[in-house]
Amino acid sequence: MKWALVFSLLFVALAFADEDCEDCLPLAETCDVEVCKLPDCRCSITDIPGGLLPRNTPQFVTVTFDDGVNTRNIITYRASLYNRKNQNGCPAGATFFVNHEYTDYTVINELYNRGFEIALHSISHQTPQSYWAEASYEDMVKEFADQKRQMAHFGNIHVDTIKGIRIPFLQMTGNASFQMMANHGFTYDCSWPTVSFTDPALWPYTLDYASEQDCIVPPCPTASIPGTWVMPMVTWTDLAGFPCSMVDACFSPPSLTDENAWYNFILTNFERHYKGNRAPFPFFIHEAFFDANPAVLRAFIRFLNLINSLPDVFMVNAQEVLDWVKNPVPISEYRQQPCRRLVPTSCRARSCGPYTAAHNNLAYWMQVCSVCPRVYPWLGNPLGQ
Ligand code: ZN
Repeated sequence: MKWALVFSLLFVALAFADEDCEDCLPLAETCDVEVCKLPDCRCSITDIPGGLLPRNTPQFVTVTFDDGVNTRNIITYRASLYNRKNQNGCPAGATFFVNHEYTDYTVINELYNRGFEIALHSISHQTPQSYWAEASYEDMVKEFADQKRQMAHFGNIHVDTIKGIRIPFLQMTGNASFQMMANHGFTYDCSWPTVSFTDPALWPYTLDYASEQDCIVPPCPTASIPGTWVMPMVTWTDLAGFPCSMVDACFSPPSLTDENAWYNFILTNFERHYKGNRAPFPFFIHEAFFDANPAVLRAFIRFLNLINSLPDVFMVNAQEVLDWVKNPVPISEYRQQPCRRLVPTSCRARSCGPYTAAHNNLAYWMQVCSVCPRVYPWLGNPLGQ
C-alpha cells in the first residue's frame, strides 16, 4: 500500500516533469501555407493576411509603453493618448507592458477603464539579463501567469483581458515563455525583434510551425506550440542605418531637441510600412524618454494627430491587431465593424504599507483597488497573502 502510494506519487512527478521538459516538446516542422491557415495558424511570412492588396489593408499602429505605471508617467499618457479617435469613430488604443514593482494599481485601473490594453512585463523585472535567458518554465509561470492574477486583483480589472507579454530586456527564454503562455491563457508575445524582416515587414504569426524569424537575443523557441502568436518587433532604422527595436534605443537618432527632425524620423519609418506591405507599425518606447526629451514627445503627438486623421490608419490595442489578422477584412469592411468593447470596473483606492519586502529588505508602499495585501507581493506570493 505504502509502496503503491510512493509509486503513484513518483508517476505524478514524472508526468509533470515530462510536461515541463523542453526536450520533450515536439520540434517545430517547416511551415506550409497550404496547411497552416487562419484563423488559428499562420506561417512566419511577410504576405498580407487574407491575400489583400496593400491599399485595401488597414495600416495598424501599435503604441506600447514598458515598465511600471505611476502618478508621474500617467501625466504623459493622459496628455498624449486620452480622447483620441481613429477615423472609423473608435477610440484610439495603446498597450502597456507593466511590471509589478512601483506600479500604482489605481493608475492601472484608470488606463483599463479608458480602454487601453494592460499587458505584462513580469513581476520582478530582475537583473541580470541572464536570469531571463536561463529562465525555466516554472520561472515564467511565477513571473507572468502569477502576474496575471496579481494585476487583475490589485488593479480590479478583468483577468481575461490580459493577453500579452513582453519579457524584460527583450531576452527570449526559448520555449519556456511560449509554453507558459499556451498553458495559462495568453495569446501573444511581443518581445522578439526582427532585423531581417523589415521591408517587407513580418506580420504576426503562430508557433505551430518553425519560425523563419531571425533570432537577435537567443534562445528563441524551437518547439511547435500551437495557440501562441508572435507579434514581431519590426525594428526601425536610425539615421546611420542601424536597427532599433525600441524607439528610445536607436543608436543614431535625430537631435533630441529637434522636434521637426524627430517628426520626420518617425514618418520615414512609418512610411516603410504604410507604403510597403502595411505590417503593423510599432511605436515601442518608455515614458522616461518622453519625460527627458519634450521635443520628442511633441513630435510623437504630431504623429498621432496625423495618423488619427488618415482614413486607412488605425491606432489600436495590440490584441486588436491579432483580432484582425485572424479574420482579415478590407478597410471598407473593417470600418463598419463595432469598436472594441469595454466592461468597466470600479476602484476603491487604498494606500497600503509600508511593507519590508522579504527579497531585498526595501520598504514599499502600494496603491491598490482591492484590500491591502498582508505582505509585499512578490514571486511565489503574487497576492501578498
Ligand atoms: Zn522593462
